[in-house]
Amino acid sequence: DVIRSEQIQAARLKLPILAEEQQIMEVIYENSIIIIAGETGSGKTTQVPQFLYEAGFALDKQIGVTEPRRVAAISMSNRIAHEMNLSTKEVSYLIRFEGNVTDDTKIKFMTDGVLLKEIQSDFLLSKYSVVILDEAHERSVYTDILIGLLSRIVPLRHKRNDPLKLIIMSATLRLEDFTENQRLFKNPPPVIKVEARQFPVTCHFNKRTNENYLKEAFIKAVKINTKLPDGGILIFVTGQQEVNYLVRKLKKAFPLRHKNKILQQNEQLKKDDKVFESEDDDLGKKKTPKNKNKIKIIPEINLNDYSIPGDNENIDEEFSDLEDDEDDKVDETVISNAQPLWTLPLYSLLSTSQQQKVFESPPPGCRLCVISTNIAETSLTIPNIKYVVDTGKTKVKLYDKVTGVTSYVISWTSKASANQRAGRAGRVGPGHCYRLYSSAVFNDEFREYSVPEIQEKPVDDLYLQMKCLNIDKIINFPFPTAPNLLQLKTAESRLETLGALNKGTVTPLGRAISKFPVLPRFGKMLALSHQQNLLPYTICLVAALSVQEVLLEVPVVQTSQEKQKELRQKWSLTRQKWAGRANSLLLGDNMVLLKAVGAAEYANSEQNLEKFCFNNGLRYKAVQEIRKLRVQLTNEIKKNIPDADVIVDPKLEPPTDIQAKLLRQILLSGMGDQVAKKILPEEVNENYVKFKYAYNANNMEEPVFLHRGSVLKKSLPEFVVYQEIYETNKMYMRGVTAIEPE
Ligand code: ADP
Ligand code: MG
Repeated sequence: DVIRSEQIQAARLKLPILAEEQQIMEVIYENSIIIIAGETGSGKTTQVPQFLYEAGFALDKQIGVTEPRRVAAISMSNRIAHEMNLSTKEVSYLIRFEGNVTDDTKIKFMTDGVLLKEIQSDFLLSKYSVVILDEAHERSVYTDILIGLLSRIVPLRHKRNDPLKLIIMSATLRLEDFTENQRLFKNPPPVIKVEARQFPVTCHFNKRTNENYLKEAFIKAVKINTKLPDGGILIFVTGQQEVNYLVRKLKKAFPLRHKNKILQQNEQLKKDDKVFESEDDDLGKKKTPKNKNKIKIIPEINLNDYSIPGDNENIDEEFSDLEDDEDDKVDETVISNAQPLWTLPLYSLLSTSQQQKVFESPPPGCRLCVISTNIAETSLTIPNIKYVVDTGKTKVKLYDKVTGVTSYVISWTSKASANQRAGRAGRVGPGHCYRLYSSAVFNDEFREYSVPEIQEKPVDDLYLQMKCLNIDKIINFPFPTAPNLLQLKTAESRLETLGALNKGTVTPLGRAISKFPVLPRFGKMLALSHQQNLLPYTICLVAALSVQEVLLEVPVVQTSQEKQKELRQKWSLTRQKWAGRANSLLLGDNMVLLKAVGAAEYANSEQNLEKFCFNNGLRYKAVQEIRKLRVQLTNEIKKNIPDADVIVDPKLEPPTDIQAKLLRQILLSGMGDQVAKKILPEEVNENYVKFKYAYNANNMEEPVFLHRGSVLKKSLPEFVVYQEIYETNKMYMRGVTAIEPE
């Protein structure tokens, strides 16, 4: 009884998976756990939930689908609602900050973390008739855990005569981790391989590997657009800043209006001196005017501007090191005669409506060019791509398993992911992939597969959640790939220090902590704030601490150097003001965060929030997430502590000095293991100036420094507690608050 529009139906029929509906459903009826593997774009995510719906799986229970990425959960739920002609009340999503699930929801998309939380209150997942774990090859921590848990839940449901189906969907790589892991599945589940119409893709390696891959990517895009036949371009870079940067450069190089300008000028020229051989009557075809010099539409392309504004993660003193060079200028005339480029960004934090644009056709006469992070590798399929430009790079957040120091490292991706990227070019016809690195680098330096996330992240959160599920011996848990022993040990000892565990057993505090969708240390801060009217403040602070990059270092919008400097000075003053005067530097950087949230909330009821954020150096999207998380944490607290009288107050007064002192204790209770002591002048004598902002943290040998934006740089307290240490050229502490020795 699903009535789809003709257009949708036609698009579906082009997907190879549709021909296999019957076979897939038969295997699902006969088995409780199955794996569906197929190339990206074959229709797994959009079609399998529809098959299940039409087969009656949503009649009295829900169809649950997990995605490792929030973007995919949102956009796929919207897409399927649209394809099925159902409202988002029936095909809905739920992610950490928000959702549109109702009592009538039939198909529910959620992030994997959300489903893991649901298991805590309903271990058998009794609401669901089927659970689909999508993008299992991405090997996100939560998907991995869910596979392990569901391998046990499915037989339990079977025993109760209330069967649950588990469908693991994955790209066709490294399936052995699931099928040949005896501890996970004693009987390997059947694998259905979905054929995809994949055309050959020719890979072109660079002869040499140029370190400035952004510049290479730009030049390659220019070449493709000026020299090669029609067909969309997809460029892979490592992060949001790089995406925005290339979008700006390409938009400048191939502006949309420029086509019309050319035509106008051509008209003019024709009238003037008939330089053209024939009528230029076809908008789709380019004619090269003989008199080149008369057309100079883009007077200047600044190829030397390779700074990446706003890359907050690794901008400290080393920021702006990106070299300038004069080597290659792109021939302006060639550019000015080229087709306009419909250049679109694509990354996780981009709004859904912006992301949706990549699915629409470009304006007539334009070539599509999408600059994306690895989100376009498998999560989203962009139609009509013929050329892929692969920088071969990926950005990973590394952390030290013992000290917890984090750093962002841009490194080579894996062979598997480079091949996924290349495959994006062969969806509609034969394609080309330009690899901006040499084949020697690919062969010798690329690893086969990416390391599963579970081996690269602190596992505290997960460890606690598993303990709360009464999984005693975590070492024996059927992980698809187990975290290493050191990771588990450090997580356990940190949880013991927090008081969440006592000799390996979850304490009542631990249970309270695990209810909150934030890191355990922040959960503890919430759990302890029940008294003294502190909750509204702790909620704000925890919400802000849980979202990355709230305070900007560099304006994201491109302006002149002077303007940038001016803005930064203004922001710095605002932050000093937010921090408060000398003896009330009670909460240091965390007071800045708290006041920023308060001020933004206040501003929102009075003026344009986005503008406020821009003027005050706050990342708009971060502020929006904090607002949502604040509501969510408040609701969570109301649910668990009915007598706690908390509301989200848009006009929350700043904390009094007494409250600030208490908040500092609360901060210490959550981050007591992250304390640093100032390195005194006599310890370093003549080097003092160099070590002015240096501290000793925990047991680390190397000094750590106050982050450039820290408001404590003037007062330099002897003892501080910090939120995080990260490493760029040196080690820096972020989110610092002074502690007074008793
Ligand atoms: P898979 O999960 O196997 O990678 P999908 O189900 O995500 O494949 O995609 C199947 C097809 O649906 C793709 O060709 C893609 O272009 C198209 N598609 C997916 N989402 C949208 C959307 N929001 N708008 C238009 N087309 C879409
Ligand atoms: Mg998919």
